[in-house]
This record gives sequence, C-alpha cells and structure tokens, in this order.
Amino acid sequence: MVTSSSTQPILVRINGVLPEISKLGNENESERMAEVKRTELTTNTSCSIFNKTGTTDKPFQILVDIGEGVINSMENGIRDLGFGSYSKLSCVNIPTVNLPDILLLTHPHIDHIKELPLLLSKASDNRSTKLKIMCTQRCLNQIMRIFPQISAADKMLFETVTPGENYIVSPFSITPILTMHYNNDRSSSSSSDSVIYIVRISDKKIIIGWDFLSIDPNVDQKLFWNPDLLILGTETYNHHPETGMLSVTETYDLIRRWNAKNCYIVHYSGLKDFEEAKNQWFRGPTKAMTSEELQKTIDSHLQITGNNGKFKITVAKEGMIWKAVEQQKEEEVYDENMTGSVLEIEGLQKYVMRIEKVEEENILKITIEDSINRYNLKFIKPRIDHENNNILYADGEKGMLAKGPELKIKIDDLQPSNGEFSQGIIRIDVFKGKGKVFKDDIHVNTIDAQKLRRFVVKNFTV
Ligand SMILES: [Zn+2]
Repeated sequence: MVTSSSTQPILVRINGVLPEISKLGNENESERMAEVKRTELTTNTSCSIFNKTGTTDKPFQILVDIGEGVINSMENGIRDLGFGSYSKLSCVNIPTVNLPDILLLTHPHIDHIKELPLLLSKASDNRSTKLKIMCTQRCLNQIMRIFPQISAADKMLFETVTPGENYIVSPFSITPILTMHYNNDRSSSSSSDSVIYIVRISDKKIIIGWDFLSIDPNVDQKLFWNPDLLILGTETYNHHPETGMLSVTETYDLIRRWNAKNCYIVHYSGLKDFEEAKNQWFRGPTKAMTSEELQKTIDSHLQITGNNGKFKITVAKEGMIWKAVEQQKEEEVYDENMTGSVLEIEGLQKYVMRIEKVEEENILKITIEDSINRYNLKFIKPRIDHENNNILYADGEKGMLAKGPELKIKIDDLQPSNGEFSQGIIRIDVFKGKGKVFKDDIHVNTIDAQKLRRFVVKNFTV
C-alpha cells in the first residue's frame, strides 16, 4: 500500500534566514545584528527541498528564493549532505555544478532574487542541466525590469504560475497561493503581492510561507491543514503590520488553525520591536533578540499554551536540516502495542479526533477538533454492531431532563485508485432523535482507519 516514493527520504535544508541586511539595524543597537556579524551567517531567506529518487546519485532539488549568499550556502549544503554529482570521466572525482532542478520565486524583492543572474549564468555554462524557474507573471515582469540583462534564451527557463492552481513536477506537486506582502507603506507603489508555496511529495506536505502579512480569505483553508513542516517568515515578535510580514505572536494562532505541529521561523529582524519600549506598560519583548533569546521566549510561551508540547516552533538557522519522518509501515501497525484506552487520529483535510474509553463506567468520550470548533462528546454503553465490526454505536447519557445525543461511527477503507494513496473514511454521526449534533466524514489514511478499527474491536466488543 505504501508507494515506493514515500520510502525515499525527503530533506529540507535552510539555506539562509535573513531579511535584507539593512533591515537588521546596527550591531551596537541590535543584539540580533551583532549575532549575525559574529557568526558570519549572512545568507538571505531560502531553502532547498531534496528528494533522492531511485537510480540517480543526484537528488531532485527544489530551491526556494535566491537572495544574497544563497548559491554558496546551497553548494555547501549539497557537499555536506554528500549529494554532489561527480564527473564520471575522470579518475579523480571532480564535482560538477550542482544546480537546482526547480527554482521557486516568492516575490521580486532583492533579498529573494539578488543572485538570480549568477544562477542563470551558471546554468548557461552547464547546458546539460535543465533548470526551470517558476513564479507569477507579475513577478517575472518585475524581474525583467530589475535585471534587464536577462537574455531571451534565459527567459525561456521561466514558467509562470497562477496562484491557486496545482502544478505537478514529478515527484512533486506544487501549489502557489496568493498573499499580501506590503512593503513599508501600503499606499505606495512598492506595495506588492507574494506567493507562498505548498509542496507535496508522496504523503508529505511542506508549506513555504515567508514574506506575507495575510492570505486571500477566499483560499480554501483545507490546503494548509496539517503540514509536516511549515516555514513562516516573521519580521518581528510583536505585531507590526507595517513590515508587511507576520509577527511571531501571530504564528501562535496560525499553527493551531493549521494544526502545524512543526514550524520553522525565518526572516526575523526584531528591529521594530524596539518601538514597544516606549510603552511602559508593555510586557513583551522590546528589542531585537538573538536567535537563542527568541527561541527561549517562544518556548516559554508554548509551555503555557502549546497543548502539552504538541506544537513546536524552531527559530531556524542557516544550514539546519529537516528530515521527513517515514510513515509507519503497515505491517508494523499490527504488532503495535495498543494497550492504552485513548487513541488520537488526525484527518487528512481537517479534524483531529480523540477517542477514549473510560474503563470502569462503560463510557466513551470523543473529542473532535477542527480549526474553529471543538466538540467534547460523551456517551454510554459503547458497542460494536454484532454483524459488522466497522460500526460502533453508543447511547446518550441520561441527564436531568432529557437524554444526550447518540452516536454511530462507521469506518470505511477505500482501495487506492490510479496511484492515489489509499484512504479511509471515518463517518461520524452524532444525533438526537432526528436532529443532528455532529455529522461529517473524517478522511484519514488507511493505517489510521485500521488503527481505529482495532481500537474499537478491542475496547467495545460486547
Ligand atoms: Zn524578504
């Protein structure tokens, strides 16, 4: 059931985390700037997504944005990860140029495109490589104005994308989403848009979202649900919309709304946070923090609000590597020790469902959560349908005046069709007489559907 591509490792390397260096202020004022000078890690925000497919030594690489220092940082990464391809003709291994297969551009600000001409010249020196550059038409138009030296031949490497559409570049699926990213003054001509990219490969979802303030409200929120990795750009800690970017404070809400358990933040400068120092009542950070201080501040906030460590935010550093955790193999699931009487399952599109058996009292508790609502439901006498162990019933609690709602859950496995992942559906119906309390299908992967079936069989067979 698990397709071969899902067993290939997927790596994300953070090539750089900085905004335009001028936005960091001077080192006497900003501890963050002093840190940058000290560590000499000066690359603009960028990342590479690698997927090593079967036969070739060289993994497929998607590079996102190409500001200052990115090419050098990316090449260091390729070398350190042992991904360099070498000339086979020579007895000595001479590394050849390692260009990305795809370059995704978010928007044409200089901290995201500065080294584009350099990359193009490397690509034309190395004709064997095929580079594809994806960005919106608006972004391409501005790039051609900023870099008039780009040749007609190089322009052919661009493929313009329409936000909201889905692009398959095997083995990846790429969806650009339109966002607002104002620069300093929203009324000025510098106001602009930007895209974030949702990149999917096998069952993994990676969202690359830096340099934006807000997302078009018409965009289907399901697209953002439950990413394996979310990368967000946060210019400041406190809310400063005039930067055109999110703040760390806003990410606390966003990670819950999207159920993003693993979030990296980049593009922090913190310079605008000095403004809060003027307010003697302000209790948050009032300076540009070092990465370590920023991490500590975030950790202590999440300790209070992070749902017992469910959500994690990492202040990303240049050279950091994120590795996708392999999905559990199906065979292992059957050996898995399921003694606990609580099971938590995450839907593929929305919903986190938690099912619990309260042993002594013959009670079943269910919590269903989506980005907006949380249903806490309690039933009595849970039991499996004696003819079909895919169906679970439970009765309503007896209250003072009336009986609580009843429950029916049906678990369906669907067979995979044309290369799609096999899916399961948990059909939940909570009703009171003819009225519905909660009725919806939770789409899950088959492994989770099977886990739930084993859980109900084990706990509720009467
Ligand atoms: Zn930027």
